[in-house]
Amino acid sequence: MGIYFDHNATTPIRKEVLEALEPLLGDIFGNPSSLHNYGQKARHKMEEAREKVAWSIGADLSHIFFTSGGTESNNLAIFGVAYSEKAEKRKKILVSSIEHPSVLEAAKALRNRGFEVHFIPVDPNGVIDLVKMEELVDDHTLLASVMLANNETGVIQPVKEVVSLCKNHGVLVHCDAVQALGKIKVEIEELGVDLLSISAHKVYGPKGVGALYVREGLKLSPLFYGGHQEKGLRPGTENTLGIISFGVAAEMAVLDLEKGVGERIKQLRDLLERLIINRIPLVVVNGKGPRVPNTTNLSFAFIEGEALMLLLNEEGIAVSTGSACSSGSLEPSHVLLAMGLSPEIAQGATRFSLGKDTTREEILRTVDVLEEKVKGAFPFLF
Ligand code: PLP
Repeated sequence: MGIYFDHNATTPIRKEVLEALEPLLGDIFGNPSSLHNYGQKARHKMEEAREKVAWSIGADLSHIFFTSGGTESNNLAIFGVAYSEKAEKRKKILVSSIEHPSVLEAAKALRNRGFEVHFIPVDPNGVIDLVKMEELVDDHTLLASVMLANNETGVIQPVKEVVSLCKNHGVLVHCDAVQALGKIKVEIEELGVDLLSISAHKVYGPKGVGALYVREGLKLSPLFYGGHQEKGLRPGTENTLGIISFGVAAEMAVLDLEKGVGERIKQLRDLLERLIINRIPLVVVNGKGPRVPNTTNLSFAFIEGEALMLLLNEEGIAVSTGSACSSGSLEPSHVLLAMGLSPEIAQGATRFSLGKDTTREEILRTVDVLEEKVKGAFPFLF
């Protein structure tokens, strides 16, 4: 097998999830809304999972709403607030400029629907500018959305400080914690946010399932209309097996963190970064703010991230780039551009995101391959 350094894109399903799931595959098929034994068995397992997911972020289970993933949770948070009663008097929305597209594009869509949307800038370290945020937030502001950890750089955002700025003006705060869960502690009460998104496939669970935490008393407008599932906020027969798997994955991710897995990954990430910088000339780390332990985003001189990704892939090493392919042309990452990087440096960005099973041998092999590939392409650098 190859070497997988793309855990921020997605993670493999962990064995404990598969083991928990296997005996249920043929057995749990009832509709959790049915009152007979088949339905109630599925309901019981699903509620157990809700308890685990709630525990993973220190929330009460009654505030967890299952969705189809991070994208839906983010959309539900933003449109759910924008179409709620609270929006009748407040039309201003603030989002950080480095959010995931599922937040950025949702916010942008509201511009055509009578909302004033502002993007909060970030500093060169990739941390949002709180002074600018304070200038923007006022009594007309409805919602602020700031992620906990950025997917491209891993940089952790000062969400607690955002909440205190917002509370003075009665502004709701949404936090996309999709890249934070399992990497750092995520505690609802400590953060103080009103809404928080998480996704199973970033914590060794399956794709297509996530959750939105909604603070007590906050009434959101649903995105879909239908039955009474998830208290009518997210109608549609629940993804029972996905939800049960998410429960196991979320619980295990937090238990791993408590056992020090994050610290082990951080040491490996730091080793990778140090070796690359020592052995390959002209490499810069993008995002020097406090980071989640598994991520490093590096720009290599003269080499586009895309080219490096393909060279490493030839050797079975999976990394990701700082560029997104949109309509056939490579666009430099909006996150790196927002940090003030030139389009050239941003295009040279490569993201390495480690996981719980990453080994020291994999790090050493990757650095050897990287050095060989860069030397082969640009011998004059060495
Ligand atoms: N938010 C962040 C920060 C992400 O990194 C991702 C996925 O890459 C998402 C949201 C979307 O989550 P999902 O893939 O579950 O829709």
